[in-house]
Amino acid sequence: MMKQKLWSLAIKSKSSSIYQMASYASQNTKFYNNYYKRYNTDDFESLPILTKYNLVGVSPYDLLSQEFKDKVYLYGETSGSSGAPTPSFFTKKDFEGLISLSSLTPYIKTIKEHLKKNRTAVNGLTFGYTVAGFSFGALLQMHGAMVAQLGTRSTIGTPVRTAATIVKLQPGVISATPLDFMSWAEIIRKDYYPLDYEKTIDNIKVLLSTAEPCADSRQHQIEKHFSLTHVNTYASVDGFFSLPCPCGEKHLIDGINYIELFNHKMKPLGANGKGRLCFTSLMRKTTPMVRYMLDDLITITDSKCEYGFKKSVKPHGRYELSLELNNQTWGNLDFEEIIYKYGLFMDYKVYVTDNSISVELEEYPIAKGDYDLSGLENELSASTGMNCVISLHPLGYLTDCWKIREAKSIVKVIDQRLSSRQTIPQIL
Ligand SMILES: [Zn+2]
Repeated sequence: MMKQKLWSLAIKSKSSSIYQMASYASQNTKFYNNYYKRYNTDDFESLPILTKYNLVGVSPYDLLSQEFKDKVYLYGETSGSSGAPTPSFFTKKDFEGLISLSSLTPYIKTIKEHLKKNRTAVNGLTFGYTVAGFSFGALLQMHGAMVAQLGTRSTIGTPVRTAATIVKLQPGVISATPLDFMSWAEIIRKDYYPLDYEKTIDNIKVLLSTAEPCADSRQHQIEKHFSLTHVNTYASVDGFFSLPCPCGEKHLIDGINYIELFNHKMKPLGANGKGRLCFTSLMRKTTPMVRYMLDDLITITDSKCEYGFKKSVKPHGRYELSLELNNQTWGNLDFEEIIYKYGLFMDYKVYVTDNSISVELEEYPIAKGDYDLSGLENELSASTGMNCVISLHPLGYLTDCWKIREAKSIVKVIDQRLSSRQTIPQIL
């Protein structure tokens, strides 16, 4: 609590106002200088919203602040983008600041306690383009871990080799996307059952996940079936940031980002409620992001968190993949939230047609006995107002655990109706 208060004071003293950021961006980057040419940065609400489509053909260097061109030392860019991937440059200070901010999660106490008993951590997040691998590795090291930086989605770090290395090293903490973690656990079960499998799973006390949106119910199923703490992080390389909290919510930190929400027609909705996420970074000057449409569908609420955080954010999924059903906007995480209440599945696909919704579920072997498919069918039909047809398929139907993953698994709900507005991201 004390640490958080000190930090929030420090953040406030370092963060800029939206006006300062807009004028800074316009004076220090080639892109904003041109983009805001006909605008007055003091009239913030009149400034045009920046989308990924505006960045098509723009050189990353045009978004880099001239003040920091000789000081930046790390480059990253977004995936899952329609339009162009958004670049992000980091100075050493930015990067260290990000690690310190991440350490504000109250989960850090749990992580440190486990690291005291077992210092070995395996970092199986992606390196390159994203900064997820780098930042989670650095976070673990900062708190005392010996980290095996294995990465993922590469030919050198195949799922089979990663699984074997996890068995060899017996880590207490693993960072990975939920899907990768579950794939490795399944390979270990197949290849090392029973003794080494049980010992290995028993030793893993914390899973740190990011880069793949994960509903709360799915997080809880993973916690239950692997008896571990799942720290489920929602953040993005372009600067949006939230803190996972043991209270069950994901919190926004005052002073990091200024958030605006918009509806379908780009009408502003204010700072609370459900809408499309647009943010202005108040901290990162190296690659200023002003009125930048991250375009996730989110809900922001006030929080009564026991750790003292005041605001929470709930992601629903990417707006461009969302759909309208029963007078509500559904993101893929809204389906996921319901599906995983009824068991731990490996993966799922939802097809929405004019007459019905078809849900394909993929079994996860250790959780098979636990499924309640009729409960799921009832709840889905009731909340969508449509007839839902559920089918259960063996593992391998959607996911090949043994194969290097080629795409990020985010296109999970497919709207096949004529009214569909879905656009599939170019880079997954
Ligand atoms: Zn909390």
